[in-house]
Amino acid sequence: MTQRIQPSPPPVVAETLAEIRASIVDSRKVGKSIGFVPTMGALHAGHVSLIERARSECDTVVVSIFVNPTQFGPNEDFQRYPRPRELDLKICGDAGADIVFYPSVDVMYPVGYRTFVEVQGLSDILEGAIRPGHFRGVATVVTKLFMIVLADRAYFGQKDYQQQLLIRTMTTELNIPTAVVTCPTLRDPDGMAMSSRNAYLSPEERQRGLCLSKALNLVANQVEAGERDILKLQRQLCEQMAATTGISVDYGVIVDARTLSELTEAVPEMVALVAARVGTTRLIDNRVLRLA
Ligand code: AMP
Repeated sequence: MTQRIQPSPPPVVAETLAEIRASIVDSRKVGKSIGFVPTMGALHAGHVSLIERARSECDTVVVSIFVNPTQFGPNEDFQRYPRPRELDLKICGDAGADIVFYPSVDVMYPVGYRTFVEVQGLSDILEGAIRPGHFRGVATVVTKLFMIVLADRAYFGQKDYQQQLLIRTMTTELNIPTAVVTCPTLRDPDGMAMSSRNAYLSPEERQRGLCLSKALNLVANQVEAGERDILKLQRQLCEQMAATTGISVDYGVIVDARTLSELTEAVPEMVALVAARVGTTRLIDNRVLRLA
């Protein structure tokens, strides 16, 4: 007998605060657990893996799709960021989302809006140093979304390592009762970390962009082989990326995985973080390095 696969019902789409609250209230009343996946849309398999994880662990799954203007700098890609609404809604439904929160900028930031969240220290290093104000925007929008959805668990990708650490820290320090779950980075078969911004890359640029994951692999192999000289590893990380033509390296560092503080010697849990520009597109990637 052939098994009939039921197509998932389309998710409920909520665009206003009243709609999202009304769509969640019934789940909460009957004690269902709520899983939340915040995104900026242009969804790919990496996002889908977060939604599926939420689906497997929670009764009700809420995805938000919001291209958050406060986390983009004045010369960044806010206007051109892809917004394929119908396709994104279908991907959410197929991945098992029950509710998609799709607010406008006015809903999240009404005229006169003036409250921001800042995580000192973590906000102004690495990505934050290159993109001033970025993490203030991220911390603010995630806090707002957390207060709107009031989820039991929220799912983030390791792909944005500094972001998930910042959100973890913020959630703990603001006593927000949502557990932050970090999920592995999904990669294309050649190792490239999936990202909505990969859509900007020409085939040649994409080929060049592979140098990020290759550099991370190189240092991970060296650490596995017993190399413990952090400065040497860090130099190799940067040199490996810079050896690719058309790549402009923003940073390549090996830091403490729990605090992102600089290291002079190896510690049990480190993370190699890289960022580079290929043409006008910025790519980031990372790899956790554990001493055996
Ligand atoms: P974004 O839409 O870029 O804001 O990403 C939404 C969430 O998806 C964030 O928690 C990201 O870290 C996560 N994410 C993005 N790319 C990947 C990936 N390749 N694998 C796993 N998670 C990802």
